[in-house]
Amino acid sequence: MRSGTVKTPAFFPVATQAAVKGLSARELDEIGIQGLLVNAYHLFLRPGTEIVKAAGGLHEFMGFNKPIITDSGGYQIFSLESLRRVTDEGVEFQSHIDGKRFSLTPQDVIRIQLDLGPEVIVPLYECIKFPSTEDAAQCAAQRTIKWARDSKEYFDKNKSDKVTLFFGIVQGATYAKVREYCVKEISALSPDGIAIGGLSVGEPRDVRHEMLSVVTDTLDKKYLRYFMGYGKPKEILEAIHLGIDLFDCVVPTRFGRTGTAYTDEGKIVVRNALYAKEYAPVDKNCSCYVCRRFTRAYIRHLINANEILAATLLTYHNVFWYHNFLRKVREAIEEGRFLEFKEDFDSTFKEEPCL
Ligand SMILES: [Zn+2]
Repeated sequence: MRSGTVKTPAFFPVATQAAVKGLSARELDEIGIQGLLVNAYHLFLRPGTEIVKAAGGLHEFMGFNKPIITDSGGYQIFSLESLRRVTDEGVEFQSHIDGKRFSLTPQDVIRIQLDLGPEVIVPLYECIKFPSTEDAAQCAAQRTIKWARDSKEYFDKNKSDKVTLFFGIVQGATYAKVREYCVKEISALSPDGIAIGGLSVGEPRDVRHEMLSVVTDTLDKKYLRYFMGYGKPKEILEAIHLGIDLFDCVVPTRFGRTGTAYTDEGKIVVRNALYAKEYAPVDKNCSCYVCRRFTRAYIRHLINANEILAATLLTYHNVFWYHNFLRKVREAIEEGRFLEFKEDFDSTFKEEPCL
């Protein structure tokens, strides 16, 4: 990508509003994250695309110089429900900030993203709720495909000198046939990569994995596969096993803000009274700045005293933990021992908080 190479499989933290909540670009650099996911819909509403464009684009605006993916915000627009209307031509919606009405075509959404200037853009898509009927899934997929064609045509005519990649997005809810159809139609547009959307919206884990398998089995191996919006550690390993290359998720940052930390054994709730006198690092195996410098007892105190530093420290550790987790996965793959690594991790890491 324009701002550097991304080693896959990779995990991108989420910076919805052009900020990873609680961390500055200096801290992100220090951790060594490979890139970020930013939401074009949110930035379009606030501060407005023209303000970011006039700053010289997202990287300059944020002071961040690694690869950025922008999501069109299809998921956010469809979550508005009563505030939006959808036609084949595009979406009309009311801003959740000030109630102002907007109408955007798929081409508008590409223009907004080109103005923001990330490395990768994801076109507008229709994301439906779980559970849905097959007819509704087919309709949404059909619309997503039409929008992808309109978007790609506009992108090819208007892409700037900056090298921006166009990722097609596959929908299809929980229906294998619809997913397969969507993969074929979207890859026919020769995108630079494929994003898999419309999952992790409440479907059971086995259904999610079946859908991921359908997509990875149908898709030509040459495409980079990006699973949008999901990232629990064990499921990341399962998805990598199926051939997924890239992930983003709010999990490490959201947990960090709410007082939960990742360790190699599982998550711990640092707020717990158990840690009041525990003068050990958050994770004894972690070499991050927070674990080298602070104790569970101190961070627990910060949480109870409502100090914002608690959120920053735990977010830092969690983002570092994810970064390091993916680094270990890549190492295991390079050394031909991925399955062994996965088995070890599955047996030691507990899904539910340890305490
Ligand atoms: Zn740490």
